[in-house]
Parts: sequence; C-alpha cells; structure tokens
Amino acid sequence: MKLVNNTHWQTRHLKAFAVRVLRDIIDDPGKRRQVVLRVHHGRGKHRGAIHGLAYVGGTKADVYVPARCCADVDKIQLCRIMAHEFAHLRGLSN
Ligand SMILES: [Zn+2]
Repeated sequence: MKLVNNTHWQTRHLKAFAVRVLRDIIDDPGKRRQVVLRVHHGRGKHRGAIHGLAYVGGTKADVYVPARCCADVDKIQLCRIMAHEFAHLRGLSN
C-alpha cells in the first residue's frame, strides 16, 4: 500500500491504522501492494465528517478527515471508513 498524505497529520500515524485495517480486509498480498490510499482534508459541507470514496474493484481510495486537530478525530470512525473503502477495492459494493 502506498499512502499519499495531503493532511497535517503524521504519515506514520495514518499508515499505522491503514496497514492494520487493510490486512483485515484484503487477504491477497499482491492486491494490498497495489492499493493507493490518499488522505485529504474534507471540504465543503462534509468538511467536519470523516468520509471516503473508492471504486469497486479499483486500486485507489480517498479518505477525508477534518482539518481540526487530530485529538478531536474519532479513530474508530476513521478505521471504519478505511475498512469500508478497502472493501470496495476488494470488490464489494453498497
Ligand atoms: Zn460505500
């Protein structure tokens, strides 16, 4: 997995969560290596909420986090959103 960090959060912190979640969701190591997770600050009306976007069967996932201090962000929710988007990459739809 490649992580592209477009936020003020520390990349190694985001990666610690992402690597752990990815291992649970995608069992194929080859597919895991292809994954690109891009983390951005949310904008517009959703800027205060953690949310994400990924295409079913794709390799790229985008996760948006609030721009405020990381101490205020729900880490469980962050992991849930990562898991949801990784599941799309695995081929699940909703
Ligand atoms: Zn979805």
